[in-house]
Amino acid sequence: MEKHDVVVVGGGVVGCTILHELTKHGYRSILCEKNPELVSEASSGNSGITTTGYDVDEPIELQLLQKARKLNEETYQKYNIPYRKSGAHLVAWTQDELDRLQSVIDKAHEVGVHDLYQLSKEKLRQREPHLSHDALGAVFIPGEMPVDSWLMPITLAHDALLRGAKILRNCKITNGYRTSNDDWILMTTTGPIRTAVVINCAGLYGDNVENINQSSPFQIKPRKGQYVVFERCADEVLNTAIFPFPTKITRGVLLFPSVYGHIVAGPTAEEQDSRSDRSTNPSTIDELTDYARKVLPALKHRKVIATYAGLRPGTNSKDYHIISNTERSWITVGGIRSTGVSASLAIAQHVREELLNKFHLKPSNQEERSFDASRQRVKPSFRVLPSGHVEMNGYKYKITHPLSRLGLLAKHKL
Ligand SMILES: Cc1cc2nc3c(=O)[nH]c(=O)nc-3n(C[C@H](O)[C@H](O)[C@H](O)COP(=O)(O)OP(=O)(O)OC[C@H]3O[C@@H](n4cnc5c(N)ncnc54)[C@H](O)[C@@H]3O)c2cc1C
Repeated sequence: MEKHDVVVVGGGVVGCTILHELTKHGYRSILCEKNPELVSEASSGNSGITTTGYDVDEPIELQLLQKARKLNEETYQKYNIPYRKSGAHLVAWTQDELDRLQSVIDKAHEVGVHDLYQLSKEKLRQREPHLSHDALGAVFIPGEMPVDSWLMPITLAHDALLRGAKILRNCKITNGYRTSNDDWILMTTTGPIRTAVVINCAGLYGDNVENINQSSPFQIKPRKGQYVVFERCADEVLNTAIFPFPTKITRGVLLFPSVYGHIVAGPTAEEQDSRSDRSTNPSTIDELTDYARKVLPALKHRKVIATYAGLRPGTNSKDYHIISNTERSWITVGGIRSTGVSASLAIAQHVREELLNKFHLKPSNQEERSFDASRQRVKPSFRVLPSGHVEMNGYKYKITHPLSRLGLLAKHKL
């Protein structure tokens, strides 16, 4: 049986980004995704806003978001991934919130984000003339930027494929055991796979996959976020993302322009047991619609054209669960709850460094490394199809994220 350096379990934004990073550096990598499509669970129902982590407290999450600040925009540019450098206004709607705006800036400074600044009511109105007149002032956060959060992982996974990685869809990891020479044999719905190291990026099923190795140190607690999407009108009525004052538990309901100009309100934060129920609820959708029209009265004359929901892979604790178990040849990348789009490139780099420095696993595919250096390989290019797929170098990927689907089909007039 062919042996791989790593098996990446799960083709969400985290798994796809790790696959890319490792393949690019010469690791013989294979990604197994249980669903027919990549990016079809947590990663297909998010806001897709790249954050600097200006308000983050959890140590591992913060460290990775700090590292990702530089990587994100560089990568979006390198791979032509659409993003909108809008920034966000965190708006004070009450005198108490106005008094606390400075604390948002202080907190951001503590975590190394220094470009936030406060705006008066008048200045805010100059920048966002259509915002409700009840807004009393704001902090501007320049680094918050919507990205096409479907195209990003798909482009990277596809680039990995072109560099020689394997991607198996409809391939569920069901069990596994270690051989006498410490390799893993993973049992999957498409047959056994041999690997030196397993990387668990199974998102909403991270604890189940973890149990293949050992009793999971975390339990997944899904948290639903619902959204409404208004027709494309950002160019006329909204320049930036509008954030409410956050609570300790949630950043609250945002109003933001998608990369393609739709205006989106959400997400909610609702704990639930189901790992798959992504239904929206009519009364919640009405509340979100009313909220959006209150914040931005110009939306009263604009149509809601879609709704969607996503499930965050929350756990019993707030921080990420990123654990290198060298004795068991297993890396856990679990509970990447609500900032995975923003942190994934740094997570991927971290995993590669761990493989090299802690697992002492050298890339076995030296050919790919020199191939990359020669820069003579095929570059990813894409075409949007009316069927709701994107074709890249002859491969088809179904657009699973509603914002990407609406945006890409509209942009390409399909
Ligand atoms: C409502 C909401 C809003 C969000 N907003 C933002 C935001 O604005 N900015 C931001 O940075 N992040 C945001 N996030 C967070 C981000 O979407 C997540 O952190 C990220 O999607 C987690 O990715 P993942 O790859 O860990 O999980 P997933 O995307 O769920 O991927 C895991 C994959 O593993 C597969 N899998 C599971 N079990 C197996 C198995 N046994 N065998 C094979 N495959 C398996 C699954 O099918 C799935 O495809 C938001 C999330 C939600 C839900």
